[in-house]
Amino acid sequence: NLSDKLQNIFKNLKGKGRLSEADVKTALKEVKMALLEADVNFKVVKSFVASVQERAVGQDVLTSLTPGQMVIKIVNEEMVKLLGEQTVELSLKPSGEITVIMMCGLQGAGKTTTTAKLAGKLKSKGRKPLLVACDIYRPAAIDQLQINGEKQGVSVFSMGDKHKPVNIAKAALEHAEKNGYNVVIIDTAGRLHIDEAMMDELKEIKNSLTVHQTVLVVDAMTGQDAVNVSEMFNEKLTIDGVILTKLDGDTRGGAALSIRAVTGRPILYAGMGEKLSDLEQFYPDRMASRILGMGDILTLIDKAQAEFDETKAKEMERKFKKAEFDFNDFLEQMQQVKKMGGLNDLLGMLPGMGKQLKDVEIDENALSSTEAIIYSMTKKERANPDILNPSRKKRIAAGAGVSINEVNALVKQFEQSKKMMKQFSGMMGGKGKRGKFK
Ligand code: GDP
Ligand code: MG
Repeated sequence: NLSDKLQNIFKNLKGKGRLSEADVKTALKEVKMALLEADVNFKVVKSFVASVQERAVGQDVLTSLTPGQMVIKIVNEEMVKLLGEQTVELSLKPSGEITVIMMCGLQGAGKTTTTAKLAGKLKSKGRKPLLVACDIYRPAAIDQLQINGEKQGVSVFSMGDKHKPVNIAKAALEHAEKNGYNVVIIDTAGRLHIDEAMMDELKEIKNSLTVHQTVLVVDAMTGQDAVNVSEMFNEKLTIDGVILTKLDGDTRGGAALSIRAVTGRPILYAGMGEKLSDLEQFYPDRMASRILGMGDILTLIDKAQAEFDETKAKEMERKFKKAEFDFNDFLEQMQQVKKMGGLNDLLGMLPGMGKQLKDVEIDENALSSTEAIIYSMTKKERANPDILNPSRKKRIAAGAGVSINEVNALVKQFEQSKKMMKQFSGMMGGKGKRGKFK
């Protein structure tokens, strides 16, 4: 799937040092293929890839990120931009006035369910919604709305199936005015495919009473079709927003990307299940990372950027090269890891690691005893590990509440790391530029 694909792409970029123009191009070619396979509209993919390319090539890679992470960051940012950057709220009149909302969409998209879900949301915000049963074609449609309305503790207006939908809607509005309802949500009929009769019926309702919000309900699992449907509805009816349903399935939600790009209309909510409480605010950034399938690596990038002190990094790099690294630095690095949420969290955020980590218990206790040992050293000992003789080690072990063997193990481990650093800096030939060690 798309997730696996993208993870592979970025895995290939990892550890390559600085990103070349060719790297960006190769990666984006794969991104393009992957997005197309995820049913994102080809025009959208084309312009998306172009904007990422434009940004990625020639951009400095932030010190705290690997080049691969940097590309993920840019891809993600552009994706969020496409999805609309900010969460858009359904626009409502002040509670003293009536807001009329018309739900539309194909049959089975989730209109009736979503109508009841939305009513519950508005009710909890202190509104008094009235649901209107305008689907007179499907035999059970009116009952379905009535049952769902009852579950939500919301009134349903119905005139059976012998009246024209536009007349039902008009009567409902009058009823709302008389009885103090301030939101009227019209549940309309859908068809399996777009046809003139359906569009005409919706247009008639829209022209005969003031509809403040025309909300299109789209099944996210219908992929590329969802885009065509949205485009048509917007063309004929001018929609104000979209609710994307069935995002609880395993679809990556590629439709979200193209719907927003093609119609320019915001996605307002996401349907996350059949239960009436399963309606969530739409967050473009979350959707982007879902489409990308990068798990929480984006969170990791954010955290790394926020927490990583650049001057410290430079200092670390200098020490690294000179192999001056001592226990104070060791401690500092451990605290850096802690600030970023602990080793378990950190590893869990890497793509593909979540699964593997399930069976592996990271011993956070071992980490804290390492810390305890270092804290039991004097400043002088931390800066000059060479002076650690048996009697000092014994004192440190007692102070940290560990055995002398544990202290020895840590010192040994530390010396090995240092030796490796020396070899490393030898290879870097003193230039020390990222990606220059060959
Ligand atoms: P309508 O024809 O557009 O009114 O669609 P319905 O509201 O009758 O929904 C069609 C089917 O989709 C029903 O079985 C709903 O329970 C289901 N459904 C609606 N929204 C969601 C959702 O967000 N997730 C899931 N899993 N099912 C949904
Ligand atoms: Mg329905």
